[in-house]
Amino acid sequence: MSEGDCLFCKIANQEIHANVVFEDDKLVAIKDIDPVAPVHILLIPKSHRASLNATTAEDIELLGHIQLTAAAIAKKLNVAEEGYRLLCNCGPAGGQAVMHIHYHLLGGRDLGWPPG
Ligand code: 5GP
Ligand code: ZN
Repeated sequence: MSEGDCLFCKIANQEIHANVVFEDDKLVAIKDIDPVAPVHILLIPKSHRASLNATTAEDIELLGHIQLTAAAIAKKLNVAEEGYRLLCNCGPAGGQAVMHIHYHLLGGRDLGWPPG
């Protein structure tokens, strides 16, 4: 899929509406349209990479920034103390449906392990 056709590029560019909970120059964090937990936030880098497989050493700062931002959002949404999960589905077997790298922040309930 080209970047022009990419759903999460369009959301990051505000061409498609989303419920934004945080934004800066590197990423946007939105409420998932089909939440699987009371807190279900997607952290989406503004620049397109298809998946974690497409990242390189140049993305180390971005990937670290995503984790620190997720921790800050978890605190803001009052799930930091009880705990939450940050995950990145990569590729078909990993359950990735949208081929623009993103991280799920899940919280607000007990999350089972192992995941499905
Ligand atoms: P993946 O399976 O690729 O890791 O996760 C994609 C996520 O994006 C799913 O949880 C799905 O509900 C969410 N999603 C798909 N389309 C939209 C949309 O248009 N808006 C929002 N906010 N979330 C979406
Ligand atoms: Zn994209």
